[in-house]
Amino acid sequence: MKKILLVEDSDRQRSKLGNFLSQDWCVLSAQNGKEALELYEKNQDVEAIITDLNMPIMGGIEFIKAVHQQAGGSSIPAIFAISSFFDDSSMEELKNLGVHLKFVKPIIPERLNKVLKMAISNMHRPTGQRTNVQLVEKKAKTILFVDDSPEILNEITEYFSQKPEYEAICVHNPAEAVNLFQNHHEISYIFCDIEMPQMSGLTFARKIRSIPSGKKILKTLNSFLKISSSKKS
Ligand SMILES: [Mg+2]
Repeated sequence: MKKILLVEDSDRQRSKLGNFLSQDWCVLSAQNGKEALELYEKNQDVEAIITDLNMPIMGGIEFIKAVHQQAGGSSIPAIFAISSFFDDSSMEELKNLGVHLKFVKPIIPERLNKVLKMAISNMHRPTGQRTNVQLVEKKAKTILFVDDSPEILNEITEYFSQKPEYEAICVHNPAEAVNLFQNHHEISYIFCDIEMPQMSGLTFARKIRSIPSGKKILKTLNSFLKISSSKKS
């Protein structure tokens, strides 16, 4: 089995990913950049490095820089960055470090593994035959909000404009929202109002639940407003 290096400070996340990936790879794991660097010194034949960004002692970016330094111009493994949030400056820095693959948490192990395999097989092809997989770009989670009140939708839009890891779609007409959901497969959650003149929240919920992908993702808007107002204070 080919070796990969997994760097993540969260024990839960590290063992979850590590267990899954060990079906296909020999997984070396480390809790922070410093530990990972020590492992990398002894295992420069790793095919890929998957690293979290926020870690104590040595974070992901510092670690990737150290890997580059150690390689001194010779080829380095494919590097995947995982984080719950990528701001503009870390995106820029990762790009300069040649990291094309970013995964926003929560990580789906199956998907990570699939991309990992693609990236590695691509690396082994002669340069001319490499498909230019501009691999997986950072993807925001999409949330659909349904409420007849424009004030509430404005507040939500404003709240999410500060949160690039989420994309909020606000719709005031429930029927339109059902339609949109049917054609938009990337929606992760739906929050809806209970009382709406065109259609009650309950009817809306039934319609969403009758769509196979809509069974588990519905919440009421009240529960969201509670979350967002408690976070503000
Ligand atoms: Mg972390």
